[in-house]
Amino acid sequence: MGEACHHADGVHPGLKGQALKRALGAAESRCADTQERLTPPRRRVLELLLESDGPLKAYDLIAAYGEAGEPAKPPTVYRALEFLERLGFAHRIESLNAYVPCRLEADGHMAAFLICDCCGAAQEFEPDLAPALVAAKAAGYAVRSVTLEARGRCPACPE
Ligand SMILES: [Zn+2]
Ligand SMILES: [Zn+2]
Ligand SMILES: [Zn+2]
Repeated sequence: MGEACHHADGVHPGLKGQALKRALGAAESRCADTQERLTPPRRRVLELLLESDGPLKAYDLIAAYGEAGEPAKPPTVYRALEFLERLGFAHRIESLNAYVPCRLEADGHMAAFLICDCCGAAQEFEPDLAPALVAAKAAGYAVRSVTLEARGRCPACPE
């Protein structure tokens, strides 16, 4: 997370306890459905993302990786992130160069984010991109990905 402001304490909390266990369990069954494996490094990185109150950069994940405080080898974290992104468990927010867990539990969707400039919260939403994609196709474009990041203030942060 960036600079913590004083508005949003506890408003965008990460998952803990049973909710965290449930989310990891759901990820494991989604992996099993697609013949993929949630290996310990993949699971650990997903856990760190789910627990976090805000987006995490790769170096935050590397530093926080070891349960006893020892950092991960960077390739371990980068490979896990690649996997989590590919399966739609996590998204990279380009403008922050940081990662968040997917909150929509849907495969292969395009992620869009509302980002608070004050507290750094990033909320995922599902954009209606159909008209734009139809127009792109009509213009002859083969669209591979779309980045939609809206910036402003979240409800917890007054102007
Ligand atoms: Zn998502
Ligand atoms: Zn905010
Ligand atoms: Zn704020």
